[in-house]
Amino acid sequence: MDDFTKRVMEKDPGEKEFHQAVKEVLVSVKPVLDRNPEYRRAAVLERIVEPERVILFRVPWMDDEGQVYVNRGFRVEMNSAIGPYKGGLRFHPSVNLGIMKFLAFEQVFKNSLTTLSMGGGKGGADFNPKGKSDNEIMRFCQSFMSELFRHIGPHTDIPAGDIGVGAREIGYLFGMYKKLRNEFTGVLTGKSLNWGGSLIRPEATGYGCVYFAAEMLATRNDNLEGKTCLVSGSGNVAQYTAEKILHLGGKVVTLSDSTGYIFDEQGIDSEKLDFIKHLKNIKRDRIERYVETYPSAVYVPADPSLDHNPLWNHKADCAFPSATENEIQQKDAQNMINNGVFVVCEGANMPSTPEAVDIFLDNRTLYAPGKAANAGGVAVSGLEMAQNSMRLNWPVEEVNSRLKIIMKSIHQTCLNAAEEYNKPDDYVTGANIAGFVKVVNAMLDQGLV
Ligand code: NDP
Repeated sequence: MDDFTKRVMEKDPGEKEFHQAVKEVLVSVKPVLDRNPEYRRAAVLERIVEPERVILFRVPWMDDEGQVYVNRGFRVEMNSAIGPYKGGLRFHPSVNLGIMKFLAFEQVFKNSLTTLSMGGGKGGADFNPKGKSDNEIMRFCQSFMSELFRHIGPHTDIPAGDIGVGAREIGYLFGMYKKLRNEFTGVLTGKSLNWGGSLIRPEATGYGCVYFAAEMLATRNDNLEGKTCLVSGSGNVAQYTAEKILHLGGKVVTLSDSTGYIFDEQGIDSEKLDFIKHLKNIKRDRIERYVETYPSAVYVPADPSLDHNPLWNHKADCAFPSATENEIQQKDAQNMINNGVFVVCEGANMPSTPEAVDIFLDNRTLYAPGKAANAGGVAVSGLEMAQNSMRLNWPVEEVNSRLKIIMKSIHQTCLNAAEEYNKPDDYVTGANIAGFVKVVNAMLDQGLV
């Protein structure tokens, strides 16, 4: 295993997030390989870490003043053993091939856990949408799709949103795809409701994450009623995580963006949450504005010189990291434990460093890794694809109840796999093993392709 990890690292040096994601999965699945020698003979590890295809392309675009810029676009088609590639697009200046591969790799296991037939992929660009006008965003999306369209399709690869790609971007991307292909198909998910979107898709990742936390709490005869919750981020996942926590009787005291966080000891109630949604989704402004309207809250600017994020250093019961990868460092995890946090449910992808995860596992925290806890988003994307194929729209109750059933099933699947391999209550091992076994069995069934 060590040799294998070393080879992966030497082959693609510098892809540190990808190496981190691979290592975590390998540690979990080692007992599966020991029990099933045919997997080693079929080199399933070597195959599963290698993307089936990587597309890298130039994205030229023009700003409102006529200045031309060039960004780099990516689509990593990681694994199609159990269905067409499926996974979001991220527009953020930090995007590079290593981050795309890590997200695509995680997506393979996540999609496998959803109970739906979806392979894994991920894409995006190192483009910063912040401060850009709607017209600039539209031109960028059109240029991006003018290359991507030849690689995707409703039965091949179905992208969706992620950081920096929401309803507005999906609209512009879809418009260009439709024009180039001259067809109206469910090639993207996260579409607006009146042209093929699904009810509950915007809410799905956040709601699903809180349903997962509720399932974990239920194993200890507990629930979210009266629980104080730390939430990071203030985008799509964070907003609907906070909303569902409120529905279930919990109290949300923090939210953040990349410039800092707010702490509202009285709780961010639904009126305050509406303020945040308007601030972030319509005005596209900074979270620090919150304290101008709600002066009893405090704003703490981000300080990159610190070895921890003070957001995670408040008394609380539950934490829902919903911003970005590696946002919880070792010291943050220890601060959480010291402050009474006993549930950590990841809305973001890989928000905890390996050292932080070890602290959660050592302290018997109810810790759910993103690939299980945030799978509700892609699951409802799968339901959007099903509705598009049938040319039907399901009502809210139907989609929400399917989402709940799927999250419950993912939770149980993780517990069962963990139990089978003598790691009771270890959701990391459970998620990795269950996701892995389904995909590699499909790979074996389909031969050496
Ligand atoms: P959004 O773009 O809607 O929101 C992202 C939030 O995280 C913003 O508040 C943003 O702040 C903050 N953020 C982003 N990058 C950083 C950073 N480097 N440091 C600090 N804060 C940062 O994205 P989503 O809510 O969709 O995604 C959040 C996480 O959830 C990501 O890890 C994503 O991969 C994951 N996820 C999303 C799914 C979805 O359905 N959308 C599905 C499954 C997982 P700012 O506004 O200042 O940039």
